[in-house]
Amino acid sequence: MKYYNLNHKDEKVSFEQASVKGQGKDKGLFFPESVPQFEKSFIENLPEFSNEEIAFRCMKDFAGDEIPEAVLRKICAETIDFDIPLKNISENISVLELFHGPTLAFKDVGARFMSRCLSYFLQNENRKVTVLVATSGDTGGAVANGFYEVPGIEVVILYPKNRVSPVQEKQLTALGKNISALEVNGSFDDCQALVKQAFSDQEVNAQILLTSANSINVARWLPQQIYYLLALKQWKKHHTGAPVICVPSGNFGNICAGILAYHRGLPADHFVAACNINDVVPEYLKTQKMEPRKTVATLSNAMDVGNPSNFVRIMELFHQEFDDLSCMLSGDTVTDAETLNTISEVEEKYGYTLDPHGAVAYRALEDYLAGHPGKKGFILETAHPVKFPEAVEKATGKIISIPGSLANLMEKEKKTVEINPNFEALKDFLLKTI
Ligand SMILES: *Cc1c(COP(=O)(O)O)cnc(C)c1O
Repeated sequence: MKYYNLNHKDEKVSFEQASVKGQGKDKGLFFPESVPQFEKSFIENLPEFSNEEIAFRCMKDFAGDEIPEAVLRKICAETIDFDIPLKNISENISVLELFHGPTLAFKDVGARFMSRCLSYFLQNENRKVTVLVATSGDTGGAVANGFYEVPGIEVVILYPKNRVSPVQEKQLTALGKNISALEVNGSFDDCQALVKQAFSDQEVNAQILLTSANSINVARWLPQQIYYLLALKQWKKHHTGAPVICVPSGNFGNICAGILAYHRGLPADHFVAACNINDVVPEYLKTQKMEPRKTVATLSNAMDVGNPSNFVRIMELFHQEFDDLSCMLSGDTVTDAETLNTISEVEEKYGYTLDPHGAVAYRALEDYLAGHPGKKGFILETAHPVKFPEAVEKATGKIISIPGSLANLMEKEKKTVEINPNFEALKDFLLKTI
C-alpha cells in the first residue's frame, strides 16, 4: 500500500516511510491510496474468527507487502494481547471497554502496533530512531509502555511539571531504560512547541533520526480499526441490526479509524462524535464552518483539542462531500456538569462506573437514541475510571480501587530530567544523551 500526503497529493510514500516520517511535506497527513474492502464472508462470520486472525486481516492490506506475514501476525497478536469486552449496560447501550491494556487507556493499541512496526523496519539498520513526543497525559504513558525495551528505539517524552495526574506521571517516569522523561517547567503548549522546534532544527536532525508517535502517524491510527471489528464480533452474538457507534473524540483519530472500517464494509448504522465543550467538529456539522479555537480545560482532558488534526482524513473518506458525511456522522457537545451527572446516573441505575471520557460518549449516545427510537448502539470507553479518580469520586461518592498492575507502578521511583522551556535545554539533552 502506498500513502499520499493530503497537502501534496504527488508525495507518495511506503508504509515504512509513512511510519518513520510521521507526516509529509507542509505537515500533511498521510492517507492510504485505496480503501481495501473486507471480504463479505469475513464480516458475516466474524464471531467464528479468533481476535488475532481478525487483527491480521484488518491490517494486512496496509502493511502486508512490507512486513512478512508471520511477523505481521505476531505484531497484531501482541497489539491486542488483552481483553476488549463489549458489555451490555442498558436496554439499548453497550460499552466497549478499551482500558484493559498496560496503561489503562485505548492508546495502548496504537502505540504497541507502531512500536513493533518501527522495530521491524529498523532491525537491519545500525542507526537508532528517537521517538520525541510531548504529552498532556495519556499519550506519553502509552508510548512509554509501547516502546519500552523495543530494540533500536529511544523515547524522549516531554511533559508539563505538576500538570499530569500522579498515575500518569508514574507511567511516564518510572520505566527508565530506553525511556527518558523530561519534566518541563511550563505548560503542555510549551512542550509541544519544543518538540516542533526539534523537528525543524538542522543540527539535531543531522545527528539524530527523529520521529513522532502522535496520533497522526499511520502506524498508530490504522490499527485502531481492529477494535471496531472486535466489537462487531461480540455485537453479532446478541443483535441482528447494525449498531450506532459513539466515540469520545479529541483529535478524531479513533473515530476516523472506525469510519475507515465502515468504508471497508464494517456494518454501522451511524457514528456519533461525542465532544466536551471543545466542540469544533460538532459546530462544523451544524454550520459547515470549521473554526479552530483555543482549548478549554475540562474533566475529559484527553479530548481538550481545539484543532482536531485527523478530521481532514474523515473529509477525505467522504470525498469532501458534506451531505454524505452528515448522513453518517453526527456530533454532540457534553458539558462537565452533564458529564458528572451521567457518571452518577449510570452508577446509580446500572452499577457501572464510567470515566469522564466514556461519560461524554454515553450522554451523547443516549441523546442520539432518544431522537431515533428503535436503534441501539455502543460507546467506546477509552480510559479506566481510576485514571480520573477525582471526577469519578465526586460524581459517585465512591473511592475506586487501583488495579494490581498500577499499585506496583505507584511504588516505583520517578526518574526525570527537569528542563526550562527553552529550546537550548532540549537540544543540549538530545545531543549529549541520545
Ligand atoms: C486520546 C483520548 C481520546 C481522544 O481520542 P482521539 O483519537 O484523539 O479522538 C479519548 N479518550 C481518552 C481517554 C484518550 O486518551
